[in-house]
Amino acid sequence: MCKPWSDKLRKIQPYVAGEQSKNPNVIKLNANENPYPPSPKVKEVLSNFNTDNLRKYPASDASELRTALAKAYNLDTSQIFMGNGSDDVLALCFQAFFCSDKPILFPDLTYSFYPVWCSLFKTPYKNIPLDENFRINPDDYKEENGGVILPNPNAPTGIYENLDFIEKILNNNTDSIVIIDEAYIDFGGQSAISLLDKYQNLVIVQTMSKSRSLAGLRVGYAFASAELISVLDAVKNSYNSYTMDSVTISAAAASLNDDKYFKDTCNKIINTRQKTIKALETLGFDVVPSMANFVLATHKSVKAINIFEQLKKQNIFVRYFKIPRIDNYLRITIGTDDEMYKLFYALKKLL
Ligand code: PMP
Repeated sequence: MCKPWSDKLRKIQPYVAGEQSKNPNVIKLNANENPYPPSPKVKEVLSNFNTDNLRKYPASDASELRTALAKAYNLDTSQIFMGNGSDDVLALCFQAFFCSDKPILFPDLTYSFYPVWCSLFKTPYKNIPLDENFRINPDDYKEENGGVILPNPNAPTGIYENLDFIEKILNNNTDSIVIIDEAYIDFGGQSAISLLDKYQNLVIVQTMSKSRSLAGLRVGYAFASAELISVLDAVKNSYNSYTMDSVTISAAAASLNDDKYFKDTCNKIINTRQKTIKALETLGFDVVPSMANFVLATHKSVKAINIFEQLKKQNIFVRYFKIPRIDNYLRITIGTDDEMYKLFYALKKLL
């Protein structure tokens, strides 16, 4: 029933995340999570964590993690900002950098949270269509705008573009902030970090959710010039000084201290991805070339929605988007070799 205050309430269509399940037998290939546990160093830090410290507020600048990130990525601490997952960092970037009346630009097929933030923060935007092969054309990003945001690799396509492409986007947009969302960069791509000195309008956002197996901890970060980072800090401190808790700060810093584990895990996923692409092709799928921890695939004769539903009945969760252009595709997260074999056999029977 309509209440007298109803017209004062916010009406918004929220972002919908991949379905979670309490059933331990589910093979979960629907949220781009990492199938391997985080580094044992994370476990060690959590086991030894001194809970007495929880009575105090955390360091509002998360200095322990900022220092560990600076060391790991060879940056100055003034060039780093951290938040409660990269969704938090991206939402703060929208508020800090996209404050003009002109529309911000992003692809028609991309991370579906971007239009939600635009709606929440009342940011005008314009979708730029990907080409027929789902590629981004940098020359489409030449018009006047209030900012640009692109994931690289793009999601949900998985397509990666090289640094020449990123430079073209930056050179076409010298009057705007350009955000490159590198949530999936560690699965074979090259980060744009090396461009930070050259382009003062570049912001790179990364996460520990995918390549560092820490989606449950919530850690994301932005790399940019000290000037842009100070704006992000000011916006964050105008809303919530403590977006990162003490436990997260220590555990995330420990993960950064285990480079070998990180690289080994990424390589395992890259290998499984390449085997998965071949296997899917033998079953009659067309697979979009991916440099992420997921693939987007469509079957030559069987409808994606039917495959999605049949797999779900067998406790194999993949992602289906009822979105124009990809409504006959499935996005499949790369799991362990064993999980991918099980997917393969389920698909073989089903098709
Ligand atoms: N960017 C992209 C492109 C993503 O797919 C995701 C995962 N949903 C995120 C950012 C956010 O990841 P998180 O908040 O877990 O860091």
